[in-house]
Amino acid sequence: MSRDVIASVDVVSADIPLTDPFVISRGRISVAEVAFVRLTLEDGTCGFGEIAPFAALTGETRDQSAGDAQRLAATVVGREAGSWWDIAADLEVAAPDDPAARVGLECALADGLARSRGVPLHALWAEHGGVADVRERETDVTLPMLDDARVQALAESWVGRGFRTLKLKVGNPDIEKDIARVESLARRHPRVDFILDANQGYDRAAAATFVERLASLHERIRLIEQPVARDDIEGMASLCASSPVAIAADESVFTLPDVQRVIAAKAAHVVNLKIMKSGLAQTIEIARAARDAGLGLMIGGMMETRLAMGVSFSLVLGFGGIDHLDLDTPLLMADDPWVGGYTYDGPRMIPSLEPGLGMRPKSS
Ligand SMILES: [Mg+2]
Repeated sequence: MSRDVIASVDVVSADIPLTDPFVISRGRISVAEVAFVRLTLEDGTCGFGEIAPFAALTGETRDQSAGDAQRLAATVVGREAGSWWDIAADLEVAAPDDPAARVGLECALADGLARSRGVPLHALWAEHGGVADVRERETDVTLPMLDDARVQALAESWVGRGFRTLKLKVGNPDIEKDIARVESLARRHPRVDFILDANQGYDRAAAATFVERLASLHERIRLIEQPVARDDIEGMASLCASSPVAIAADESVFTLPDVQRVIAAKAAHVVNLKIMKSGLAQTIEIARAARDAGLGLMIGGMMETRLAMGVSFSLVLGFGGIDHLDLDTPLLMADDPWVGGYTYDGPRMIPSLEPGLGMRPKSS
């Protein structure tokens, strides 16, 4: 019998500086404000989780979420890590509006469980509808909404490092500016593809014009994320019906009922999964629903270190069918607080086969 009873939970805040300020249509940050969860089992095994809310998108702040996680620790301590799925369901009831706090605990639980079983984290997802597909992948890299010269310089440098998909933050009130930027990057980098993320920045007419005006680049646009407001499901659906480019729902899908609504309305071709907006167990449920409905899957994150991003990568490896990877934020940070686990080689993400996430804090 493995002693996988949870003995303790600790939550510690950390500020990780970014190399460049990160600007989207809904906010700007220059430091990743995160918190790390360390969960210890009675046999001494540790599991780690990360809390990385992006206040502009979900309304949670790091300090609120870290405090919630401390409070929620009482729901977790004394139970068996093996029942993590049931614990996750209890956490959803206890903190429905704080997915970042929940996910910190869920990830620490799952990591601890995988480590106590001696298997990589991605191996756990087979029990939840996953079909393992363990191999190297490539991630895109995101260019923030900075001035043209800075964006061009960043694009130059990422393409020079081998990146083949650039994710561009669009959604400017002035769509001409967005169109000019996409066209100019496409001209300078004829071999790269694009993911264009409007973060709800357009209205229906602007979104339709944006798609139309980029007709000559359609083959190089892998998808357009969340062109219109999250609740404008009709707008998403009408764009989906007419757009030759895949439309992805991001902010429209936080929960399982959200994805069910999007599926019923045919309001997306692809769903962008993020553990930090939905929680870990609910992300798996969303992925299952979307996959069963024949939708494509993308996975991204908030401003997360390699720990939370490693959990998302484990879903790519262990759940399967996730074709669009936007798992670049550790590359935007000036420091990596973790050692071990998966590695980056340019855009390539190389899986780790160590137990759990295979990571430990750099400082201990
Ligand atoms: Mg997005």
